[in-house]
Amino acid sequence: MSDTQLLICGKSFKQDERDRLSTAYPAVFVDGPGDMAGLDSTLRASIRAVAYKGHAPFGAEQMDLFPQLGVITNYGVGYDAIDVEAASARSIAVTNTPDVLSDDVADLAVGLMIAQARTMIRGHAHVASQRWAKEGEIPLNRKVSGSSVGIVGLGRIGREIADRLAAFKCEIHYSSRSEKETPGWTYHPDVVSLAQAVDFLVIALVGGAETKGHVTREAIQALGPRGVVINISRGTTVDEGALLDALEAGEIAGAGLDVYENEPNIDPRFLKLDNVVLQPHQGSGSVETRTAMAELQLANVAAFLKGEPLVTPVN
Ligand code: NAP
Repeated sequence: MSDTQLLICGKSFKQDERDRLSTAYPAVFVDGPGDMAGLDSTLRASIRAVAYKGHAPFGAEQMDLFPQLGVITNYGVGYDAIDVEAASARSIAVTNTPDVLSDDVADLAVGLMIAQARTMIRGHAHVASQRWAKEGEIPLNRKVSGSSVGIVGLGRIGREIADRLAAFKCEIHYSSRSEKETPGWTYHPDVVSLAQAVDFLVIALVGGAETKGHVTREAIQALGPRGVVINISRGTTVDEGALLDALEAGEIAGAGLDVYENEPNIDPRFLKLDNVVLQPHQGSGSVETRTAMAELQLANVAAFLKGEPLVTPVN
């Protein structure tokens, strides 16, 4: 019988994150869910906890490889890669890492707004290429403070974004499944009416099947020619084809994106656009926040293996 209780799954784990987990518990590592079946069956029979990081689907087929599996601890707040229904049906708990990353993701959302509206990528290129001295100023751009902003999904991250933009004197609108108690922000029951009311549409929804294509072609078109789409949630939450069509045709003013449908091999149509600011899904990617996420994941593994209540359960 193996004494390995923990499976660390995900090639995007940094070495220090892997070390932190495997120092705490005897662990085995695989690159992704696709490699789980290749583990020796005696080893698989001893695994009680999985520490997961990544976006590859982790479903019933993989869960059934581990007869003693009791918890899947996800590194990240978004657990759309994990089939939570299948986990619950097998009495497997799922945990995530909420709250500790909300500041970083909200900072990036506001950063994308400012970078897009104030043409900061163009400004940087103008300085770096020494065209400034030869050609003078870049064209005037667009003010962010005081603009109207629509937050799609006023959850933990959505609220942090709204709080920051309220300090920028923005007019805050939002949509979500239910109306919230807010300091005078305007609720819209659907995303089309939200888009009609604002210039910046900031998407902070959960991912997964239920929110796929939530921001529809109609919603993107409702934004109009001054409209900017900011997405820090998941690529799936927007009709990406419709977004690309609108950006190419100049039907909206631009976009600031951290997430895409087919990461990291994003649609090459994005690369030809000069009205977008593109980031490589780095919303929570500061040293401080990733450390906090890794610690919270480990705290969930530890709680489970000690038989204590999970810190941040999902199901
Ligand atoms: P949260 O607190 O659970 O908020 C999620 C929001 O989505 C809520 O407003 C919720 O509406 C809404 N929502 C959920 N299901 C919905 C549905 N079926 N239809 C419409 N709206 C729905 O989550 P969070 O902590 O703010 O995180 C949000 C997401 O950000 C994560 O799930 C993840 O995908 C993404 N994220 C991205 C990065 C990055 O690196 N870019 C980092 C962290 C997280 P209600 O308020 O009505 O419940």
